Amino acid sequence: MKPIQMVDLVGQYQRIKPEVGAALQRVIDSTAFINGPEVKEFEKELAAYNGSKHVIACANGTDALQIAMMALGLRPGDEVITASFTFVATVEVVALLGITPVFADVLPGTFNLDPADIERKITPKTKAIVPVHLFGQVADMEAIMAIAKKHGLYVIEDNAQAIGAEYTFSDGTKRKSGSIGHIASTSFFPSKNLGCYGDGGALFTNDDDIAKKLRRVCNHGSEVRYYHEVVGVNSRLDSLQAAILRIKLKHLDEYGAARNRAAAFYDDAFKGMEHVHTPVRSGTSTHVFHQYTLRVTGGHRDGLKAHLEAHGVPAMIYYPVSCHLQHAYKGDRSPEGSLPVTEQLTREVLSLPMSTELDNEQLTHITATVKGFFN
Ligand SMILES: *Cc1c(COP(=O)(O)O)cnc(C)c1O
Repeated sequence: MKPIQMVDLVGQYQRIKPEVGAALQRVIDSTAFINGPEVKEFEKELAAYNGSKHVIACANGTDALQIAMMALGLRPGDEVITASFTFVATVEVVALLGITPVFADVLPGTFNLDPADIERKITPKTKAIVPVHLFGQVADMEAIMAIAKKHGLYVIEDNAQAIGAEYTFSDGTKRKSGSIGHIASTSFFPSKNLGCYGDGGALFTNDDDIAKKLRRVCNHGSEVRYYHEVVGVNSRLDSLQAAILRIKLKHLDEYGAARNRAAAFYDDAFKGMEHVHTPVRSGTSTHVFHQYTLRVTGGHRDGLKAHLEAHGVPAMIYYPVSCHLQHAYKGDRSPEGSLPVTEQLTREVLSLPMSTELDNEQLTHITATVKGFFN
């Protein structure tokens, strides 16, 4: 059996190696390392794939979130409602800009923001909602957009984990994740579903004016070189990464299908287990399985993790401590106990290996090891 890794990037690379090699050589020969044609072409191709009018590439997914908030003119004193059950980047950029992060709880099934709790957390200072499409499923965007419209708020989708997922509105309209809010951000970190071979990120919007502002913030607050209208940052995707991403974008749907095959194998194997709860599928979103995350009840999570590791199966806890209980972000507004679902999930979640490369032999070993722990 091939050794099992949380994410196996080697096999995926092997299958596109000649194409990647040629693309990298082409960029190096051109010496257009920054803002070259590869970046422009990639932006166009990703916009077309996603059904978004504009894509603006940048340096990473954390920058993308920060740039979105800067472009919208969010300021110290403003409040942004987001999940506490997320990777810290979402909350970090809010705090860095002096904006107040306000945490809403998530739903126990999909792990995504609970629209009812968002609405409870709105105050006159609230300016934006940042839903995180956690682990590969789109949050309840129809409800979130309706709340935003009612209260005059912006919506920034943190789409770092769900690129390629599709959301269906109640009237049957289908939209790709990241094409629904006023702005969306994503990350091309190597282990993300659309990962490059270094750091990368992008912003999405359907609004021409917002697109212009996003581009300006990315480029030192400048539209005309050496003239700076606003305070900006330097955040760019380089041409080598763009060339790799153009190749991988063509395979993104097939990568999603491979992840879904592994997820179906897991689902089937764990059916009927008392303490192992397989991921709940949202009724409105496809799942691209950035993570395959179990809820392990009965206090068995940590024991199962240790058992798996002892048998050559890596497993990870995303996330062991939610943001509102992190030392850096603790506050009176969300004391311990205030987000009960989030806090329970941090005690129960366990993510199993997930990648495009898992074969049946590995999946059989993983699932047998999980079952062996409970026998
Ligand atoms: C990965 C990730 C980010 C940050 O992306 P980077 O490219 O690593 O900066 C932000 N939000 C979520 C939910 C993520 O998973």
